[in-house]
Amino acid sequence: MALIVQKFGGTSVGTVERIEQVAEKVKKFREAGHDIVVVVSAMSGETNRLIGLAKQVMEQPVPRELDVMVSTGEQVTIALLSMALIKRGVSAVSYTGNQVRILTDSAHTKARILSIDDANIRSDLKAGRVVVVAGFQGVDEHGNITTLGRGGSDTTGVALAAALKADECQIYTDVDGVYTTDPRVVPQARRLDKITFEEMLEMASLGSKVLQIRSVEFAGKYNVPLRVLHSFQEGPGTLITLDEEESMEQPIISGIAFNRDEAKLTIRGVPDTPGVAFKILGPISAANIEVDMIVQNVSHDNTTDFTFTVHRNDYLAALEILKQTAANIGAREATGDTNIAKVSIVGVGMRSHAGVASRMFEALAKESINIQMISTSEIKVSVVIEEKYLELAVRALHTAFELDAPARQGE
Ligand code: ADP
Ligand code: ASP
Ligand code: MG
Repeated sequence: MALIVQKFGGTSVGTVERIEQVAEKVKKFREAGHDIVVVVSAMSGETNRLIGLAKQVMEQPVPRELDVMVSTGEQVTIALLSMALIKRGVSAVSYTGNQVRILTDSAHTKARILSIDDANIRSDLKAGRVVVVAGFQGVDEHGNITTLGRGGSDTTGVALAAALKADECQIYTDVDGVYTTDPRVVPQARRLDKITFEEMLEMASLGSKVLQIRSVEFAGKYNVPLRVLHSFQEGPGTLITLDEEESMEQPIISGIAFNRDEAKLTIRGVPDTPGVAFKILGPISAANIEVDMIVQNVSHDNTTDFTFTVHRNDYLAALEILKQTAANIGAREATGDTNIAKVSIVGVGMRSHAGVASRMFEALAKESINIQMISTSEIKVSVVIEEKYLELAVRALHTAFELDAPARQGE
């Protein structure tokens, strides 16, 4: 008998029929004697629909009001799932984030969980009830409804599992685990039996949206046993683990992540004096725009070029600021490009293997894909390329690093 937190994503609760199926599944676990807390997302497409409505009224919706609205998606699914359980004779009760009291900071649309009051949930579990909690939402100290950022129900699930010291947090979704890369882009992608927190963190932060990055951070910090599984197919899924087995079989890279959400900005002919990087990026960060990759060219004729990437949502604002900076510091021009994509290879195996980056560059060169920017860390190499080559690049790298399904059989 275990305490299990089960999170079901948008497609898994996308229709009333699916919600009934989820209820059947939860009922089975309950009948096996487990204590169950279920976290659900909004029905698939609902959060986008709500954001779209808001944007019809206001192009940049006021964040507090946007949260009041988008949080309703999950309020619908918790009630429906509870009803489906009760109808089956399973005692159940639903709670919004506020009712549990999932306390967050006040950063609307991207709030962080500060604490969870687990008293209600514990007494319901004790009374034999399945507790159904709305994902993605919380409440700040002033009573304002907050949301945790897109994909935030994963984080609700893991945070509840941490608070309740659950035996396992199961993330049920529309794929049967974490794959070497998005299986919708590379059909040869393979399900991983295990992946380390560290690798999953990199994969999530580099664009694999199968788990929200904060959920992985939480799971690593509180050592929550975390598993990604298919909602409606049996299977072992993928376990996110702490241990990093040093076996001979260990692949050099575990996965490939990619991201189309960035844009590139370049400022040319910058007088090359000390403090240049600060002059360029200072105003960007003052505008609360996060910078990802940065490249400064070797100076030439005492001037240099400087390129960096930001989220596409911030592109226009960043370009405006950069043009202003160019005028202020006497640079030749400020330009930008949104037709880019970032592809990253990730793996703890890189630590013990040389030449991983050059193997990556070779595979891209063979496909005549030009690399615009490069950044590396201990367990990842990322490149920026033209967006139209993204899928080709991911497939080529998947093959070059021997990740394609048949090549790794018998592992
Ligand atoms: P949910 O609604 O259940 O939260 P998401 O759409 O957020 O589901 O996440 C699941 C999706 O993540 C999959 O359908 C898949 O396309 C995508 N994905 C991206 N990278 C990976 C990966 N490495 N492994 C598995 N799925 C991935
Ligand atoms: N419904 C929210 C979203 O679409 C949260 C989630 O599904 O995890 O981002
Ligand atoms: Mg998700």
